[in-house]
Amino acid sequence: MGAPRHPFVVHVADLLRRPGSSRQEVVEAPLEQLSVIDTSMPDRSTVVVDVRLESVNEGIVATGAVAAPWEGLCRRCLEPVEGTLRSEVLEVFEAEPVEGETLLLDGDRIDLEPVAREAILLGLPMAPLCREDCQGLCPTCGADRNDAGCDCAPPTADPRWAGLEGLTFDE
Ligand SMILES: [Zn+2]
Ligand SMILES: [Zn+2]
Repeated sequence: MGAPRHPFVVHVADLLRRPGSSRQEVVEAPLEQLSVIDTSMPDRSTVVVDVRLESVNEGIVATGAVAAPWEGLCRRCLEPVEGTLRSEVLEVFEAEPVEGETLLLDGDRIDLEPVAREAILLGLPMAPLCREDCQGLCPTCGADRNDAGCDCAPPTADPRWAGLEGLTFDE
């Protein structure tokens, strides 16, 4: 089905003929590497776009999710970590798209690749942890405190960083 070079391009003539109709579309294909800070989706990873396509007002609405593997470094101990991200998507395709808001409905085709790329960039964890209670590295000697303790005195709190203490990251 479809041109193998563009696995994310989906034909929607059937939906356009029948406004109000919908169907599920699952595209599973590789994408080139995407990165945010030190976390990335490895090059040519298989990405899964699983969306419901609905025909509305001369356009197509895609709702569903994008899933892809990621790898990065634990923000506390710097050990490699990996996982699978899942991002919800809601996109509208229309013949005359609004810049930054909707995507191009190109005749009877839509391209889910930009949807996948944006969802992955939004879903990559920017500060992953190898585990919730990772003890991190000793700031004095650099020892991995998950493996063994060290004899360094506990660090004195640096007031410059005090404001960051309560900071949490969405993952
Ligand atoms: Zn860690
Ligand atoms: Zn130490």
